[in-house]
Amino acid sequence: MALNLEKSAAAFAEAKQYIPGGVNSPVRSFRNVGGTPPFITKAKGSRIYDIDGNEYIDYIGSWGPMIVGHANDEVVAALKEAVDRGTSYGAPTLLETELAKLINQIMPSMELIRMVNSGTEATMSALRLARGYTGRDKIVKFEGCYHGHHDSLLVKAGSGAATFGVPDSPGVPSSIANNTLTIPYNDIDAAEKIFSEVGSEIAAVIIEPVAGNMGLVLPRQGYLRKLREITTKYGALLIFDEVMCGFRAALGGAQAAYGITPDLTCLGKIIGGGLPVGAYGGRRDIMEQISPAGPIYQAGTLSGNPLAMTAGIATMKIISREPEYKQPDYSRRLTIKTKQLTTGMEEMVKKAGLKLQFHQAGSMFGLFFNENEVYDYATSAQSDQEAYKIYFHSMLEQGIYLAPSQFETAFMSGAHTEEDIQKTIVASEVAFAKVAAWKK
Ligand SMILES: *Cc1c(COP(=O)(O)O)cnc(C)c1O
Repeated sequence: MALNLEKSAAAFAEAKQYIPGGVNSPVRSFRNVGGTPPFITKAKGSRIYDIDGNEYIDYIGSWGPMIVGHANDEVVAALKEAVDRGTSYGAPTLLETELAKLINQIMPSMELIRMVNSGTEATMSALRLARGYTGRDKIVKFEGCYHGHHDSLLVKAGSGAATFGVPDSPGVPSSIANNTLTIPYNDIDAAEKIFSEVGSEIAAVIIEPVAGNMGLVLPRQGYLRKLREITTKYGALLIFDEVMCGFRAALGGAQAAYGITPDLTCLGKIIGGGLPVGAYGGRRDIMEQISPAGPIYQAGTLSGNPLAMTAGIATMKIISREPEYKQPDYSRRLTIKTKQLTTGMEEMVKKAGLKLQFHQAGSMFGLFFNENEVYDYATSAQSDQEAYKIYFHSMLEQGIYLAPSQFETAFMSGAHTEEDIQKTIVASEVAFAKVAAWKK
């Protein structure tokens, strides 16, 4: 059942004439799995449609934002009304306060919140704030954690314990990368060691409290609490990058799921409801250092954009709405659906005689073609890439749209139906059988 992607192939060839690699974000090019990326023309609910007329059940959800499904009726209606009132004013609106309030109610640690235009901008600004507030230059990040593409964080270390940063990309000055210390995820000894060496120079630790950019990797029991203790002890800030796991690991994000209060939190994806938004926020005394309240500069022509705020508000209202009597809330319902899917798929894994690992955090899920426990970037990298390719293409051919890379996470939305889940489980039986046949 080969997929007809003739028009997408032509569109991809033409795109490459005008856009580097034919895409505006690298993973969309299918480099990791090979083949032609479907060019998408529309989406509704759990489905997306390509220009060749193929229909897919979508588990990418625009890489996380579409938690209420594509083109959700309430979000679309709100946007249609908003667009008639103008697309940007460059002046304060009621919408910005409304969204900030909604976020604060769900994540009370975010006492003050500043809107920006992407997750990258959120983490970049949070680091400047942490450095300005503490008067220190060094940042600790974790191997395999992605926080956007700005210079300070586009750094990972070589293997082994803490090393001084080596830029991940040409164009990142080593003078900047040098201030980024990278240590393995889930390794508390490495964190203790780096703090015992240079703790007084560290402005902040930034972490994906549930890591979704090396595949889905959960924090070990007690790990986040330990990081909270160490940072407090040394006067460094703890920054939770919840751009992806916010409102997914639990409604209140990983900080609610694990009961840890970070100093600063970065958000993006869901809070824009599919429009470009990011935000950072946290302790009032720290956030008050941001201009114009304080001296640390950060600004944005389109920040707090009325259309983006409108889509974000509509989305946040849906996910935080009081459930019907005795029903689980939105986030719990998604978690249950995701569990149904992964449980069903795990049956198919057994049936195929394979051994691999499923990870789930709320409405995020992922699998590793690796029999052993996966705790960090090194162990996630041991997942069999070839097996993932076979699984991915088989699923795509059967109309299931998953991330074209082992190192991405899959997402459930409120629009996915029982039927979608059953179809996906059935498709996975075929895909896992293919992987098993290839392994022999
Ligand atoms: C997506 C993501 C970012 C970057 O957000 P952009 O909007 O793509 O700039 C940062 N941190 C995490 C954890 C992410 O998943």
